[in-house]
Amino acid sequence: MTEETMHAVATPLELVRALAMGYRAALERERAEAEEAAAQRERDRREGEIAMAVYEADEQVDMWFPNLLAGALLREDWTGYPSMGPLPRPGQGAGCAVAHLGEGLWLLREQAGARELPGLRLLVPCACEGFYECDRYHEIEIGEDRELLAALTRIESGACLRYFAPDPL
Ligand SMILES: [Zn+2]
Repeated sequence: MTEETMHAVATPLELVRALAMGYRAALERERAEAEEAAAQRERDRREGEIAMAVYEADEQVDMWFPNLLAGALLREDWTGYPSMGPLPRPGQGAGCAVAHLGEGLWLLREQAGARELPGLRLLVPCACEGFYECDRYHEIEIGEDRELLAALTRIESGACLRYFAPDPL
């Protein structure tokens, strides 16, 4: 083997091919990095919304239900969820938090509501199990401890929540 074949001089085309390969690889790397950065932003957004939903649910309970719920429900009882869309919409912008109270009863706090309202709802499986052709699951807006007690009493009565009006407070 001669000196010349060992260090063969690349043709212009070979040089261009090598450059093109390097160029494509760099583009591919950039694209992968941009994708990873976008995915990370999305993860951060979701985590932030989850944390905020739980934080606010807990705060609202302390503020609006100081005598009953605040003493019973801990922050870790809440599970947060991010908003569905890739970007929060104005005035909506956030997730929700739910707490399971047992026996199919859920407390739901959606952040979409105004901050100066508790925005808490009880999700209740109807005792009639759909016998009265109600929607089976009812939502009861609760604004303070007394309303929560009234709702729980109503639920306990076992009557269909659609056809039996709540007792006056
Ligand atoms: Zn019912």
